[in-house]
Amino acid sequence: RPRVFSGIQPTADSFHLGNYLGAVRHWVALQESHDAFYCVVDLHAITAGHDPKVLHQRSRVAAAQLLAVGLDPERCTLFVQSQVPEHAQLAWVLGCITGFGEASRMTQFKDKSQKQGNERASVGLFTYPILQAADILLYQANAVPVGEDQRQHLELSRDLAQRFNSLFGRTFTVPAPHIVKATAKITDLQDPTAKMSKSSSSPGGIVDLLEDPARSAKKIRSAVTDTGREIVFDEATKPGISNLLTIFSALSGRGIDDLVAAYDGKGYGDLKKDLAEVVREFVSPIQQRTRSYLDDPAQLDKLLAAGAEKARAVAAPTLRTAYERVGFFPPV
Ligand code: ATP
Ligand code: MG
Repeated sequence: RPRVFSGIQPTADSFHLGNYLGAVRHWVALQESHDAFYCVVDLHAITAGHDPKVLHQRSRVAAAQLLAVGLDPERCTLFVQSQVPEHAQLAWVLGCITGFGEASRMTQFKDKSQKQGNERASVGLFTYPILQAADILLYQANAVPVGEDQRQHLELSRDLAQRFNSLFGRTFTVPAPHIVKATAKITDLQDPTAKMSKSSSSPGGIVDLLEDPARSAKKIRSAVTDTGREIVFDEATKPGISNLLTIFSALSGRGIDDLVAAYDGKGYGDLKKDLAEVVREFVSPIQQRTRSYLDDPAQLDKLLAAGAEKARAVAAPTLRTAYERVGFFPPV
């Protein structure tokens, strides 16, 4: 079976619809056909400052949500990054074959560091894509299911795999992005040209999986829509309504054309009201299942520790090979 790897940051109290539709939904599907490794990337979550207690709890909530949306520990390997030290170890090696200029071109770093103020942005935020490459390459992943915003980082992972292989001998599988176009960029409800984002969207711009559906309904009602009154799908001229149609279609399984036909002659208000209901029906059972996983944190931690053990069984031999190839001594 081909391998997939992907990760998600525990940087908020909940995942949002962009995370789910752009990435996690595909994780669930791919566990049926692939040898799948999915990771709560807590090392990545300390790049912009954090509170230790909050981080720890968010990592648990992240894992519980992933289980609640359908990841099955019998079908995939689900773990927390900090329990597999090989990630940080390989990142050092990869950092030493990454050009400073090359890393400086990462647009996500430019955006995020600008928001934090360049003086305050951490070196960890800068080297984040290198750690991400290590995450992926350790598992020899063939494919990486992510949203569109990760395309450039994936390109770096591919370059680093190829570079390492040509410098030191064939060691890593070169991973391909798995980006499903229709939902690869869910946009901010308040700014339909920007992506919905845990760290940079305003609360009104995000629909969280774990928030009260009444709150989501209010946000959807206040979502920025476009001039004109017609419900048509056109991302260039009607990004707001197109985003709502994309979410509606993905959650309900109805085609965009079908929706456009169904709302012919109706207004934005009708679409928003019905979408809020679709969201409520979607998140309610997820919230319930998330709560029940969180009711037994000891069991959840046990499950994650078992996942980390399975992950290490793959990661450790890869790291050992990489260490040998670069001339290091093997771990004792
Ligand atoms: P942050 O703003 O802190 O970077 P995030 O919302 O981007 O948070 P991540 O944990 O960085 O969340 O990303 C997890 C996955 O969700 C990645 O595969 C990413 O590409 C995907 N993703 C994030 N936002 C969106 C979005 N708006 N549309 C589609 N996919 C998304
Ligand atoms: Mg992100």
